[in-house]
Amino acid sequence: MTTQFVFDFATTTKVTKELAGGKGANLAEMTRIGLPVPPGFTITTEACLQYDAAGRKLPDTIREQTLTALAELEAKTGKRLGDNTNPLFVSVRSGAVVSMPGMMDTVLNLGMNDDTARAFAEQTGNPRFAYDCYRRFLQMFSDVVLGVDMFYFERELEHYREQKGYKTDPELTADDWKELIQTFKLIVQKKHKQPFPEDPHEQLMLAVAAVFRSWYNDRAMIYRRVHHIPHTLGTAVNIQSMVFGNMGDTSGTGVAFTRNPSTGEATLYGEYLVNAQGEDVVAGIRTPNPIAELASAMPDVFAQFKETCERLEAHYRDMQDIEFTVEDGKLYLLQTRNGKRTAAAGVRIAVEMVREGILTREEALLRVDADQVDKLLHARIDDSVDRDVFAKGLPASPGAASGAIVFSADDAAKRAADGERVILVRPETTPDDIHGIIAAEAVLTTRGGMTSHAAVVARGMGKACVCGCEELNVGENTLSVAGETLVEGTIITLDGGTGEVYIGEAPMVMPELSDEFNELLTWADDVRRMMVRANADQPLDAKRAVEFGAEGIGLCRTEHMFMEADRIPVVREMIFAKTMTEREAALQRLEPMQEEDFFGLFEEMGGRPVTIRLLDPPLHEFLPDKEELIVRVTELGITGEHPAELTEKRRLLSLVSELEEKNPMLGHRGCRLGMTHPEIYAMQARAIFKAAVRSGAVPEVMIPLVGHVNELAAMRAVVEEEAARVEADQGVTLTYTVGTMIEVPRAAITADVIAAEADFFSFGTNDLTQTTFGYSRDDAEGKFLTQYVERETLPRNPFVHIDEDGVGRLVRQGVELGRGSKPGLKAGICGEHGGDPESIDFCERVGLDYVSCSPYRVPTARLAAAQATL
Ligand code: ADP
Ligand code: MG
Ligand code: MG
Repeated sequence: MTTQFVFDFATTTKVTKELAGGKGANLAEMTRIGLPVPPGFTITTEACLQYDAAGRKLPDTIREQTLTALAELEAKTGKRLGDNTNPLFVSVRSGAVVSMPGMMDTVLNLGMNDDTARAFAEQTGNPRFAYDCYRRFLQMFSDVVLGVDMFYFERELEHYREQKGYKTDPELTADDWKELIQTFKLIVQKKHKQPFPEDPHEQLMLAVAAVFRSWYNDRAMIYRRVHHIPHTLGTAVNIQSMVFGNMGDTSGTGVAFTRNPSTGEATLYGEYLVNAQGEDVVAGIRTPNPIAELASAMPDVFAQFKETCERLEAHYRDMQDIEFTVEDGKLYLLQTRNGKRTAAAGVRIAVEMVREGILTREEALLRVDADQVDKLLHARIDDSVDRDVFAKGLPASPGAASGAIVFSADDAAKRAADGERVILVRPETTPDDIHGIIAAEAVLTTRGGMTSHAAVVARGMGKACVCGCEELNVGENTLSVAGETLVEGTIITLDGGTGEVYIGEAPMVMPELSDEFNELLTWADDVRRMMVRANADQPLDAKRAVEFGAEGIGLCRTEHMFMEADRIPVVREMIFAKTMTEREAALQRLEPMQEEDFFGLFEEMGGRPVTIRLLDPPLHEFLPDKEELIVRVTELGITGEHPAELTEKRRLLSLVSELEEKNPMLGHRGCRLGMTHPEIYAMQARAIFKAAVRSGAVPEVMIPLVGHVNELAAMRAVVEEEAARVEADQGVTLTYTVGTMIEVPRAAITADVIAAEADFFSFGTNDLTQTTFGYSRDDAEGKFLTQYVERETLPRNPFVHIDEDGVGRLVRQGVELGRGSKPGLKAGICGEHGGDPESIDFCERVGLDYVSCSPYRVPTARLAAAQATL
């Protein structure tokens, strides 16, 4: 039995979305529920892979099945492709499983040639319209299928307009278009070295092949890489009979969302153009009218459209993004899909759909992209500070951003690679600008509406975007308005939530959680099993974390406390100490400072658990390098050349060299430091316990970088001794626990033995990933890791998403072994993975008790931990 590669919209419901692609599946679904969809058929994604396998050629079976389906379409419409009296015209549209806005190519008006255009002109009684369609087809087909750049045609058209003294396209007559069509054909002949294909069947096959080919073009490949979409999915092709929105003033075309994709507000949101074909709206060539105006322009159509939107939303139980065309007063639907939305809109829509009875709470929780919600906590412009608005455009994607303006995607990418924050400024963007948009903080365009390419892509990436800022003039390398001109590199700030643009850097403020977001998180708290803690070293961070819903601190890194400017001299004195007495003296000065640090944290956390990790970094991190040491020597008052002072100078220099390590990541750090300098850990333990007595906290003391149980046993003894001392001194009984970080493979492998000395485990998956792979992260990410991920040597960056097969296996084993010898052993994770939804899902599966992440990721973690249980 031969495989069926082609399915009519009227029968495609039998086919999965994987085969028909998103567009095809939804066109079929809309057909099935009786909505007005122009008839057509879908060639499957499987055919795309066959095309590739056959050396990028269309296999005969696929051609034959396509022709059979075409015959059926001709029968259904009563028209024929290439017919000289009643010609059929079709669109050839790509449609991947995952929607990839603007990535793939579409050809409209296919079937046009000199004969069919003449027939169409007679049939419609509107030669100007018919020849306009023809020339559009020539341009689009030549660009997309034959690879003759649109630029050549545009240039010719511009030239022609000038010659004739026309200002706009509508002024061109049928004869003008006819003349241009002949010139366009000459351009094709010249650039393509072959005549323009007049045979509609040949046009069709070439177009189908071109859509398949476009799946493999560079910009599609880049988009898929960025969004982790497998290249092996392939795209489907949809062949659909044309409806014409450019037939006159009773026709038009538009795009609409059933709810506001930027804020989530439940009102119809979109744009349309009168007398235009679909591409005109998306391409941003003309700035369209708000959809609400359709209500007065075409009341009947609007009413029908509104009802259809409600029906579609109820049917798909999600916000829809709809393309429609009106041909001479009759409404047609050309596409529907679940609409892309900002994080804020995603939250609001999910919560309101629960209130409206459309979704259950669990469904709503699963609807929101946990990875995106931290964007809701990002800075916005401080309204209390006055500033001059330089220009105002459409608020296309919320968020505020400052950066240096650049005028090309390449410049954006280049400057961003050098670490600069840039804002990409373009008249409009195209898929070729993708790399620039990725690199930029925000995008500003002067043309196009809320559904233009720039707006859609920026919203998808969660970047701020202001578009359609028509008062601005983009020159070669300048941006100007009303006499004021900005050059490349000028810093501007834009607010994608209001559409405002300012010169310079505007002050920002931290936002609050919205009511809807809070409500959603409360639902998440009800269903999640794991606790969510935060990594925080300072009371201010702790406060933020608690506001965002953290239930404790999973990791307080004490080295950050050592690094504070006023402490460094004391820390250095401790390191430089010549004798134990000198060292003790320095430690004695540090102790009250540390005690205050811990006290502040305990107070802020009000009885919630706090895990404090004793000092980890290598000592040399606190020391000046050799050049600085000269300064340091002066600081110590060693200025003269007296022999004794020279000796001291030499001693300091040799101490610095001694502390300098070949490989600090694997060097004298963590508990290794505690082993050789127990007095440091003892001081920290005392400070913790004294602060605990004052605040009534139950501290969890954590020993870092343990590889052998003996290390933990020795350090535990130091901590216990200090606890006993504080108890004796103050006549109190302390409650505390001592646990360890599991962050080197040996600890995970011998977790059963280590558990005997540990009250809890905390998986430090940053170091565990480094030590399991044997990568130094700082070296890996800049040098080879990016290439590894791009070439799929590694499926993904293991520092972002936990490597389940390797590092994850150690974690799983560590938990099992640990709990095997100590049932109920508390275990959590405190690496950056603790804020990554996919890694959080893994933590749920291995039964960790909590995840700990940075304060701003706490809401993400609450949501992801809930999703992991559903
Ligand atoms: P994209 O995925 O880039 O949006 P589409 O295949 O949806 O590409 O098509 C591009 C534009 O052409 C859309 O605005 C769409 O509405 C319009 N279009 C596609 N097919 C037809 C058709 N059969 N008749 C009229 N307009 C169409
Ligand atoms: Mg579309
Ligand atoms: Mg570590």
